[in-house]
Amino acid sequence: MNGLLTGKNMLVMGVANDRSIAWAIAQSLAAQGARLAFTYENERVEERVRKLAETIPGSMLLQCNITVDEEIDALVHQLKESFGVLHGLVHSIAFAKTEELDGMFVDTSRAGFTLAHDISAYSLTAVAQRVYPLMTEGGSIMTMTYLGSERALPNYNVMGVAKAALEASVRYLAADLGPHNVRVNAISAGPIRTLAAKGIKDFNSILRQVEAKAPLRRTTDASEVGDTAMFLMSNLSRGITGEIIYVDNGYNIVG
Ligand code: NAD
Repeated sequence: MNGLLTGKNMLVMGVANDRSIAWAIAQSLAAQGARLAFTYENERVEERVRKLAETIPGSMLLQCNITVDEEIDALVHQLKESFGVLHGLVHSIAFAKTEELDGMFVDTSRAGFTLAHDISAYSLTAVAQRVYPLMTEGGSIMTMTYLGSERALPNYNVMGVAKAALEASVRYLAADLGPHNVRVNAISAGPIRTLAAKGIKDFNSILRQVEAKAPLRRTTDASEVGDTAMFLMSNLSRGITGEIIYVDNGYNIVG
């Protein structure tokens, strides 16, 4: 099937480099004809993201640190000017201090807890509340989560608690925005070697365990997440909202 997203305007937040899950998602969306706007966090990653965005004709690049309300306001203003109508939002953003992703959860600091929740959970709501008014033809919002939201996994710690808040946010946002014909879902991806994953101690042993135990006996490829995201952004998934969809080669079902 081709052109599933032709004529659709989508915002992709969370590309830092070509390993980012958001980048794999962008490629799947672009392959189906979506027009994309990318955001980058700060000048540190701007050049890298610009080079990637330039490979997708017609795409737009905007700056947005998701912890700053004024920057989200400015982003939405620019989207309104350029796109008018928005059809999709991909939120693929998370952060926790490295020291919180090592050792025991019980040692989490107040500042570390707050920061992880602000960037990794609240930010979805901060963006959703501003973009849904642009989704006048209906819309789809999606975010990225991980199994550490439901199970106590070694070293995932405060990020697991933030992902639980993010998943609950997905359900509340879906309930609020459904009457506006806006759907909200999350993909729970298996572990993928990215910049964010580097911060998690012993990430290699997590990958090895998945390879050994997942029903499909392999780790998750970012393109698998990209294609599921494309499905969620398309009309094919029009009956699905408030869901957490696993793209993990089945790892979550095994004991
Ligand atoms: P990544 O490092 O490529 O992406 C994380 C992004 O978050 C980066 O682009 C970074 O710039 C952005 N970000 C962090 N703080 C920000 C801020 N204040 N403002 C704006 N942007 C900010 O890593 P990734 O693995 O692609 O992560 C994307 C999402 O996928 C995250 O939510 C992550 O938790 C989730 N996820 C990752 C895995 C994995 O194994 N890699 C598995 C499941 C879920």
